[in-house]
Amino acid sequence: MDERSSSERNRAPYFSAHPRSFADFRYVYPVVSRRAGGISLGVNLNLDQRCNFHCIYCQVQRTDLPTQASAADRPTSSVALSGEPSAGESCPAAQGGQNRFIDLDRLAAELESVFQMWQSGRLFTIRPFSDLPPQLRRLNDIALSGDGEPTLYRNFPEIVACCAEVRRRHRLEDLKLVLITNASLLDQPYVQEGLDLLAQNNGEIWAKLDAGTEEYFRQVARSPVPFERILRNIQQAARRWPVVIQSLFMRIAGCGPSPDEQAAYCRRLKEIVEAGGQIKLVQIYTIARPPAEPIVSALATQELQAIAALVRQTTGLPVAVFPA
Ligand code: SF4
Repeated sequence: MDERSSSERNRAPYFSAHPRSFADFRYVYPVVSRRAGGISLGVNLNLDQRCNFHCIYCQVQRTDLPTQASAADRPTSSVALSGEPSAGESCPAAQGGQNRFIDLDRLAAELESVFQMWQSGRLFTIRPFSDLPPQLRRLNDIALSGDGEPTLYRNFPEIVACCAEVRRRHRLEDLKLVLITNASLLDQPYVQEGLDLLAQNNGEIWAKLDAGTEEYFRQVARSPVPFERILRNIQQAARRWPVVIQSLFMRIAGCGPSPDEQAAYCRRLKEIVEAGGQIKLVQIYTIARPPAEPIVSALATQELQAIAALVRQTTGLPVAVFPA
């Protein structure tokens, strides 16, 4: 039975498609986002679909890797952080990718173009944006996310600075800059440099935390990065900058997260707060698009709400639920 409200059902068609391509753009893709409650300008830094996680619910189809990525990643105007050891050598979480760069000229040009289309209304002559009701036509954020982990890029601070500068040129400083991250590299100096810039530019860190125990983390994220490192990174980041926790819960082979797992997840949140971390919001959501593994399916709205109620009750944190 579909337990969503009628407004949720009406909104669902806009949210079920999340193409990471728009016109002939390479990096920037506007989408209608359920969590943004409007239009989010995605910046897909991971054209090669690299990620140091391999989540069982990931929507990225990694069997069809694009061949343009290696050429696209060569820097043009960006300054290579040369002279430093490759973070890939010193950081096992990196799993390659950190010696790659984003073409900042092209990123800036694409952002300029979308801002102009949105400001002139031309964006709303193109589907699916032409179908959007007025309340969903607002531009909510620029989201550094995409087909992999965005902090894998060595010129990450310059990428943040580039987005902030284009936004400033269009007098859109209120537009949030959001980093959607699996938190594995938040302890890296070059990432922290970017996070400082993010914080100075109306930015938010949305850090993934899908588990309460190492065992469940291994099952879901399938990453060599230890769960302890993810927790430490989130905790330390939250002590410097307020973070949003994004948690995806699902059914795996027909089973949702056990009561013990849910209780452990709440304990992890409490530990972050007790260590002095600031959590602005906990986002509880489920899969909305086809997952990497067919054994994964969505939780019902009531199940998400029950997890949210447990989080509120045990941690006192604000929680938002985003049904499929
Ligand atoms: S961290 Fe994100 S991009 Fe990477 S595998 Fe998980 S869901 Fe996919």
